[in-house]
Amino acid sequence: MKRIYFANALSTQPLPEVIDAMLPYLRDNFGNPISRYFSGQIPKKAIEEARTSLASLINGESEDIIFTSCATESNNLALFGIAKAYSRKGKHIIISAIEHLSVYSAAKALKKEGYDISIVPVDKEGFINEEELMNLIRDDTILISIMHGNNEIGTIQNIKRIAEIAHQNDIIFHSDGSACCGIIPINIRDLDVDLYTISSQSLYGPKGVSALYIKPYIRIYPLMFGETQESGRRPGHYNVPAIVGMGKAAELAKEQLITRKIHLESLKERMINGLLTALPRLELVGAKDNKKGLPNIASFLLDGIEAEAILIKLSDKNIEAASSSICSAFAHKASHVLLALGYDEFRAQCCLQFSFSIYNTLEEVNIVIEELKKIL
Ligand code: PMP
Repeated sequence: MKRIYFANALSTQPLPEVIDAMLPYLRDNFGNPISRYFSGQIPKKAIEEARTSLASLINGESEDIIFTSCATESNNLALFGIAKAYSRKGKHIIISAIEHLSVYSAAKALKKEGYDISIVPVDKEGFINEEELMNLIRDDTILISIMHGNNEIGTIQNIKRIAEIAHQNDIIFHSDGSACCGIIPINIRDLDVDLYTISSQSLYGPKGVSALYIKPYIRIYPLMFGETQESGRRPGHYNVPAIVGMGKAAELAKEQLITRKIHLESLKERMINGLLTALPRLELVGAKDNKKGLPNIASFLLDGIEAEAILIKLSDKNIEAASSSICSAFAHKASHVLLALGYDEFRAQCCLQFSFSIYNTLEEVNIVIEELKKIL
């Protein structure tokens, strides 16, 4: 039986064009891009082309993008980098209650270093409340970090408005766009964020690379020290094949963004309508208005049944989905995201998540609906 993979928020399959673009940089063009000599010139040019593709995807400038090894690194660099560069101005940071652990845990680590962290709560659909955010702002607040789209429940925040609130109060604003870039259109100038995390995953790019957009006047203290790569803000040998792959993925995302979005929306709509009609005891988790949710994520609360048990049954049928975040799943702990929505410890473990990709079909969605009707 063909495998049905609906766990794309955890990992996506790189596009064939991406792999083809990478191969020459794994085999032949292995020179060090910071070398002034011949072997470094081709990889150097390829990195700059990838940077331009990424910038073009978000309507930004290529000089404002730096490459990192993963979105976790981009988020850590944003939080630690700003905290350390602006510590003389203040030591207060605001994050939301539904951040990915790479922001949440970085904030916790900063707390141990003497920073003060405030957490903005979210409502039942995962939206932060502007007023509550404004109430948390203090004279010593240096950074607000609030994710763009949530990877577990899909809720999309009003990032433009949050940036406005931050800037009215002279505060730097970072947003983790890992779950968004390549899935929904991003116009970085219009959003007016100061730092934005971009993941290779949601672009169908390779592992081992991601990026951080940083507005030109923003100072950032590096996580590592070494040579001159990325103007010293992210030193270390460039992962040239992965960067080239991410650049190719960005180029394709730009060309295909709208058709991809329409396809993902149709899969999500079918899954929601099919499941809620057949199994009315299920509850949709996240934004009730589809336009305010990511088109590739549909999460459901099962009525008193642990999602892990259903995942095992689906897996027997060659169907792969997820139960909120993988990190929580490893620790068999309720996801902090679900708890933040107001679900209790048990119900928070009853959330089944489907995340779609451009490779998925309506037929696959129909098969999964039929299987769930038998299981539940
Ligand atoms: N932020 C978000 C919103 C994510 O979904 C993920 C990955 N699931 C990350 C950050 C971290 O990405 P990575 O594991 O590639 O470092």
